[in-house]
Amino acid sequence: MDSSQAPTIAAARRVWPRDISVAMKHVTVLGAGIAGLVTAWYLAAEGLEVTVIERAPEAAAETSHANGGHLSTQSGVPWIGPQAIRELLTTGLRRERVVRVLHAPDPGRWHWFAAALLAARPAAYRLAAERTSRLSHYSRPLTEALMDTLALNVGLENQGVLALYRSRSAFRRACRKPPAASLLLNRNETLEREPALAAATAPLAGACFYPADATADCHAFCEQLSQRAAAAGVRFLYDCEAQRVELSAGRVVAVTTSRGRIACADCVVALGAEAAPFLSRHALHVPILPLRGYSLSAPIVSGAPAPGRFVDIERHVVFSRLAGVFRAAGMADFAGHQRNLPPDRTRHLHAIAGEWYPPVKSGQPKFWACLRAMTPDGPPVLGASGIPGLWLNIGLGPLGWTQGAGSARLVADLVLGRKPDLDMQGYGIARFRR
Ligand SMILES: Cc1cc2nc3c(=O)[nH]c(=O)nc-3n(C[C@H](O)[C@H](O)[C@H](O)COP(=O)(O)OP(=O)(O)OC[C@H]3O[C@@H](n4cnc5c(N)ncnc54)[C@H](O)[C@@H]3O)c2cc1C
Repeated sequence: MDSSQAPTIAAARRVWPRDISVAMKHVTVLGAGIAGLVTAWYLAAEGLEVTVIERAPEAAAETSHANGGHLSTQSGVPWIGPQAIRELLTTGLRRERVVRVLHAPDPGRWHWFAAALLAARPAAYRLAAERTSRLSHYSRPLTEALMDTLALNVGLENQGVLALYRSRSAFRRACRKPPAASLLLNRNETLEREPALAAATAPLAGACFYPADATADCHAFCEQLSQRAAAAGVRFLYDCEAQRVELSAGRVVAVTTSRGRIACADCVVALGAEAAPFLSRHALHVPILPLRGYSLSAPIVSGAPAPGRFVDIERHVVFSRLAGVFRAAGMADFAGHQRNLPPDRTRHLHAIAGEWYPPVKSGQPKFWACLRAMTPDGPPVLGASGIPGLWLNIGLGPLGWTQGAGSARLVADLVLGRKPDLDMQGYGIARFRR
């Protein structure tokens, strides 16, 4: 980027700093994934001095690296609900099932499952789904405003997303109770919306079209946002592991890292799947469990149009088309903090992707595994931690790209001492402390 194009913080500033004391405050943000980066940007845009601490050598090295790319504004729902429990029970004995519970030393695992079962009761689930939807809708214009004001080149495709049905019986069931503001399409209508699906070998009975959903590259967004933020004065400490926060008189005064002590007035924890073990060092127990997922990225072969912006609803795999890359992502293993790639999972994902985009079958796609930070009820954990000066932007689970900008805006407003635009009921840590 040449210097004439370099955006200033003021370019994306919502308001100028109102209070000069705000401009003197130093905030550390732990983690340079989507949650940490956008929080850092919003805080710096309001005049705060911000340092981002990231253990990897670059931004978006973990869960924000190669996710499905879906901005599931309309279709995104909490994963653990009555339907998921039914599916887990009925597919439990199938070898290649979507969700697997593998043996792993996960402290708090059984408490988490018990809380998830309670959250899956119909009334509780409806409430969590409403909160999820509210945050996703709040987030979307913020995400697009960042793309626009900072000229982020992230391959946004915002003409809606297709949820594809393979079997007639599943499609018939969907037709009986179509989701609000969606459109049911038969096979031909589906192919009109996404002609590249004509080459698919997977059976296609029809689709449910979500006009408000979109796809874009989360990694490209994070990478470019980190560059814009660094150019605008945010300090990035890479290869730097946050070890603990230091308190004085019960308040945050510094963060201890592998590269020394960093004094700060406030600290935002945005450590993704590592947030729960980090916080437990300070006797803060947050029910967040890592849920491993997988993705496949294959180059788009010239001459063979690749389909994009769709979901294989019966296999729970999402697909997107991102700057020369065909991406498939899905599956869920409760396997502790291990990020390995079991061959049966990559084989399975490869086979499904090849059914929708046949050139993938003969290629050597890149596989990737990472951990979703799951709360038992679905929404993330945002805001005050209970320790003065320590803030949380964690537990974004399967919807962190969709909700990252909104979550960051809410947390930044709280750090700034402002009333957030959204009612925070149901997004804080307090909901787990009853
Ligand atoms: C297979 C898969 C597909 C997905 N698809 C979608 C999708 O289509 N749409 C969607 O909305 N969401 C999707 N998600 C979810 C989304 O990717 C995540 O919710 C989001 O990336 C989480 O962002 P984060 O910033 O909270 O965490 P992360 O991106 O993991 O960032 C946390 C950062 O903290 C750093 N860190 C950890 N510990 C330390 C430490 N001690 N010190 C310093 N740094 C540390 C890590 O290196 C990491 O960079 C998907 C997830 C997976 C796994």
